[in-house]
Amino acid sequence: MNNKVKLLNRQSSLEFLPNLSNKLGPKIYIKRDDEGGRGGGGNKLRKYERIIADAIHKKADTLIIAGHFQSNAARELVGAACQLGLKSIVVCKSMIPEQNPTFNQNGNALLMKLMNAHIITIDAEDDFQIEMNKIANNVNKKGNKAYLIPFGGSNLLGSLGYLDCANEIIEQFQEKEEKTPDYIVTPTGSGGTMAGLIAGFAIAQTSTKVIGFSVLHKDQTIENIVNKLTNEIIENVKPKIDIITDFEVNTKFVGKGYGIPTENGNNAIKMLAELEGVFLCPVYTGKAMAGLVQYIKENKIKKDETIVFIHTGGMPLVHAYYNLYD
Ligand SMILES: *Cc1c(COP(=O)(O)O)cnc(C)c1O
Repeated sequence: MNNKVKLLNRQSSLEFLPNLSNKLGPKIYIKRDDEGGRGGGGNKLRKYERIIADAIHKKADTLIIAGHFQSNAARELVGAACQLGLKSIVVCKSMIPEQNPTFNQNGNALLMKLMNAHIITIDAEDDFQIEMNKIANNVNKKGNKAYLIPFGGSNLLGSLGYLDCANEIIEQFQEKEEKTPDYIVTPTGSGGTMAGLIAGFAIAQTSTKVIGFSVLHKDQTIENIVNKLTNEIIENVKPKIDIITDFEVNTKFVGKGYGIPTENGNNAIKMLAELEGVFLCPVYTGKAMAGLVQYIKENKIKKDETIVFIHTGGMPLVHAYYNLYD
């Protein structure tokens, strides 16, 4: 379970955001998981460290991932595969309504093209799992060995990457000789990032609460996924010990749906860019930041508390949604 390929060669930096903190009240840090690693970086790389190690262990040479034309997960996988000399196939379908005339060519689509990604486009109605299995069969018939990447990299192995991240944050606060943060704030899509963080802080027995703002599911589904995955991680890492978790999933900032920008999300992106020169995206981190701003306004998070906002990546999306502020 701890077999990893190295996709990140250092800790991601933990940066204080002085101007945002000044404006909103609480002490706000940002964990720069958007930086470092191949393919442009982002949160999937921590997950792929164990998932790809598992693929290599199983003698696979072709990684297959489902995605859409603006998928960070696919772009990061192709980058990691390039680095490691593995083949990759992106099974692609349209999942976000086109936001502008170049939506399927710009941003992540452009970066995947630069990496010469092997993209197989399927119809929007086609089932990912069925199509991925067919493609895997063809790969295997040709004498190669296929490995299917789980959705969002959010299985047990992948989510452990975010247990690593929780431990990294704890270490970084110890180095500062500061108390561990009161809150971790992250976007949540397929749930693995959040589950790993929850498990990590719970196992370390800090008093940190993890707040996840959903960017995909608008109902109880995401909380169920996160809960199940968290328990699975804890059972594997600390079996037979009672571990108390502290987390909250909020589904009120998704807006109309996955990949569809929201007004408060767009405002949050602009605010962070203007105040700190940090770029969020309209699909993930912008919506999570909008949630954080609202929580502080409502005094759910107090002015004397400390927050770490997880920057999960996704900068290429800023280009894909270039017309957001027209
Ligand atoms: C995939 C992704 C997420 C969501 O992470 P999950 O582990 O799937 O919940 C958040 N932010 C960015 C930028 C992503 O690419």
